[in-house]
Amino acid sequence: MATLSSRSSRASASRAQGGEAAEQVRSPVPYRVGPLAYSPAVLCQCRRKTPCWTAWSNENPGRRYYRCPAGMAPGDCGFFQWVDREATPYERTLLCDLRDAVWSLRRENAEANRVIEMMQSDNAELRHLKAKLQKEKEELMQKLGQTEATMVEMVDKIKEGNRCWLSRCMVVFVVVAILFGLMLVKV
Ligand SMILES: [Zn+2]
Repeated sequence: MATLSSRSSRASASRAQGGEAAEQVRSPVPYRVGPLAYSPAVLCQCRRKTPCWTAWSNENPGRRYYRCPAGMAPGDCGFFQWVDREATPYERTLLCDLRDAVWSLRRENAEANRVIEMMQSDNAELRHLKAKLQKEKEELMQKLGQTEATMVEMVDKIKEGNRCWLSRCMVVFVVVAILFGLMLVKV
């Protein structure tokens, strides 16, 4: 059994990345088997079945280990035991490169999803704005129609007024002509 300080998977991965994004602390691949789904059970000094975790540190990428279920919390008995042998330098480099590629793709995927969400949000705002403009256009068209109807009515009234004025002038003219004719007859 080795000391704890040299090989805690997530903690050491976190330290190795020096405060990288939170997702880099997580395993690059989901575990197919639960940490307690193995047999025969390996018991720690607390006499409890120890979960089997996988390290993703630079020193031990993909290497499984048993750890006291209390794990660095009060009551931790300090039990730690590797499951797999130590990787060769080539295997270590390969696994670290693959791990970093997965983390990088996850970041890119998260960024792409963020952009898509922003675009969807913008599209929703544009649709809302389009609907609002369409409604305003319909209201303006309705007002324009009412104004046109009012103008036509006013023009008709003006024409009517002009016709009345012309007929009155004609009557006055005829009366004056008759009076003038009578005056000429008397002379
Ligand atoms: Zn224990």
